[in-house]
Amino acid sequence: MVAPRVYQAMAQPVVGHLDPYFFQVVEEVRSLLGYAYSTKNQFNVAVSGTGSAGMETAVANFIEPGEKLALLTNGFFGDRIGEMARRHGGEVVRLAKPWGEPFDPQEARDFIRRERPRVVAFVQAETSTGVYNQAKPICEASREVDALTIADCVTSLGGMPVMVDENGIDIAYSCSQKGLGCPPGLSPVTVSPRALDRLKSRRTPVQSFYLDLQLLDSFYTGHKYHHTASATMFYALREGLAMVAEEGLEARWERHRVNQEAFVAGIEAMGLSMLVPAGHRLWTLNTPRIPEGVDDAKVRQFLLEKYSMEIAGGFGPLAGKVFRIGTMGYSSTAENVQLILQALADALRSVA
Ligand SMILES: *Cc1c(COP(=O)(O)O)cnc(C)c1O
Repeated sequence: MVAPRVYQAMAQPVVGHLDPYFFQVVEEVRSLLGYAYSTKNQFNVAVSGTGSAGMETAVANFIEPGEKLALLTNGFFGDRIGEMARRHGGEVVRLAKPWGEPFDPQEARDFIRRERPRVVAFVQAETSTGVYNQAKPICEASREVDALTIADCVTSLGGMPVMVDENGIDIAYSCSQKGLGCPPGLSPVTVSPRALDRLKSRRTPVQSFYLDLQLLDSFYTGHKYHHTASATMFYALREGLAMVAEEGLEARWERHRVNQEAFVAGIEAMGLSMLVPAGHRLWTLNTPRIPEGVDDAKVRQFLLEKYSMEIAGGFGPLAGKVFRIGTMGYSSTAENVQLILQALADALRSVA
């Protein structure tokens, strides 16, 4: 759900993409992103596009043709990073886990030390399965072999700890529409000084003009035209990030954790079980298993028609096996948890 304050912000007059006021908003977004990502990085930009644009920005800028990317994947979005990297000419080596299983830190470290890649990529919050992957062991091993780390934080930012500096993540990207409670349209990216050096020493130009971070920097900080960024989306993101700062990161994480725990308790009381083991679950996205004999599409249609509640189904190997239910951003409230539990119980009684 989009926060009402964000809708209000979006109703404000649109200014041009080179207006001094626009750049003032860009500057506020840059600084608020530093807070949300828990980083001292100065290079924080909101890329025009959705989370996938952030993913493609990371891949296009930090992997040159022929370079090795070590990918840790245990779900749909991890696989997507690999697909993008191959299209950008990268040589992709994979450590893959079954969907729903987290990485063993030692296994992750061994993989990186063995492969000695230029870049390592992983998904911190894998939305296709509900698994939280620990960043620290991956980032530490990457540093040992002088590899940069790319972390997909699309479903963690604004909902659970991302901790860019503490974890040693070099490039993180996210989106506006999940934990931040805005509409889709911008993808916040943060880049470490170490990664910036790598960028400056590229041998080949970034294949994507639109997503070239150095060109984006000449626009956002150099005020030189690159593309017509949407002032409306920047108002939205500034408001969403201001709400994160007002609530405070720790309090916000705690709200997500508590509501997610209440959700799980309710699910288990209904006799359902969670796909992901306790301790490895996202606080933003839940994957209860669908009971035997229940038609997932019917349940979702019932919820949408009777309660105007939209939940998602599983995909890939989890199609028909799990529901995917978000408790993120503005939607993560005790009331919403009660509502979805009651509605789901009703749906399971009615359509099963
Ligand atoms: C949603 C999501 C994406 C893609 O974001 P879009 O906004 O749909 O382009 C990438 N990675 C993860 C982990 C996601 O949850």
